[in-house]
Amino acid sequence: MSTNSINNNSDFSTNTENSLLVKYGMNILNTPFVSDDNIQLGLGERYIIVEKLLEAHEFAKINVLAGNITGRGFATNVCTVDRAWSMGTNFNNTRNDISSICGERSAILTAYNEALIRYSRRPRGKFDFKVKYLCMASNIDLNEITEMIAPCEDCMSWLNTNRYFNFNTLVFSFERTQGELVVRASRLASFLPYKTYATSNEFDFNKEIRFSKNSQISFVKFKLEPKDALELLNEAYKKYQTNEYTNVSNQKVAASIISNNEVFSSSKIDWTKRWYVEPLESAASCAIEKHKKETNIKAIAYFGDEISSNSNEIHNDGVVSIKSLGRIRQKYASNDSLLVLNFKNYILITTIGEYLPKKFEQGYKIT
Ligand SMILES: [Zn+2]
Repeated sequence: MSTNSINNNSDFSTNTENSLLVKYGMNILNTPFVSDDNIQLGLGERYIIVEKLLEAHEFAKINVLAGNITGRGFATNVCTVDRAWSMGTNFNNTRNDISSICGERSAILTAYNEALIRYSRRPRGKFDFKVKYLCMASNIDLNEITEMIAPCEDCMSWLNTNRYFNFNTLVFSFERTQGELVVRASRLASFLPYKTYATSNEFDFNKEIRFSKNSQISFVKFKLEPKDALELLNEAYKKYQTNEYTNVSNQKVAASIISNNEVFSSSKIDWTKRWYVEPLESAASCAIEKHKKETNIKAIAYFGDEISSNSNEIHNDGVVSIKSLGRIRQKYASNDSLLVLNFKNYILITTIGEYLPKKFEQGYKIT
């Protein structure tokens, strides 16, 4: 590679003396970008993305060196549509989720605050904050990297919203493919479940049923029949109809599960405008209290209102909790667990693994 050949690219200019690529002995022409999402980027853009990934990698290392509580470092470089870059790293007061935040959410908050500060200097027109790129890295040495980094389910429940992210938002991470360090480019939408499909709160047994590819394997594995899945959905529907604890959000949601050949159902309970008990976690807790280590969640049905409303505000906050699905599949359920959803014109029977296609392996897997 000669510097001249890169500089011939019209949208490309970088001070190569301070380049992190040079520091890491990398060459943009020999650093492949791989994607299953048909993402095409010019050389200049690819150069900037690798620089930002390396910058995030260094930031993640510094976070560990500084003694962050988990000993694991993650950082994300966020690019907004107006081409401003901001960086954030994982922040942990404790190991509890209530006092922790992942690198990507931390970076999005930095980006939002910095965009707002820029806007405050010239507060004219609409404040239009949209995320274009998320460049995600960890503290793991580049020689030891294997799989790409994908957002965890807590982050995905943030990202599965459309105010600040859209179908054009791209995610980048290093990964190793056949021994070679490459950059994996993905559309954010390809991590997210059925973003464009809203569930329905109208139900009858005569609806068409559609089966995902893997659901058939799960029916055999768990010795269940499609009628068991329909009956489970009906249990969730009955629980939904009697849900009287959501007077704050006006959003009724219920979840039913089959665990150890028994059905457990719970409904959403509002505490305040923002805080509530999530019904899947609640139903799973009942099963775990009863069946302890033997708990085996074979099927889950969600039923409810996609939208909450409160003093004239309407929020598309959804029926299915990505966060809860992600949590229970760590131990008490699995990617094979069936998921039953009621859409407007049909009932979909799928699996957790298909619904949340790219599993992020949490560092603290419960065994
Ligand atoms: Zn996360």
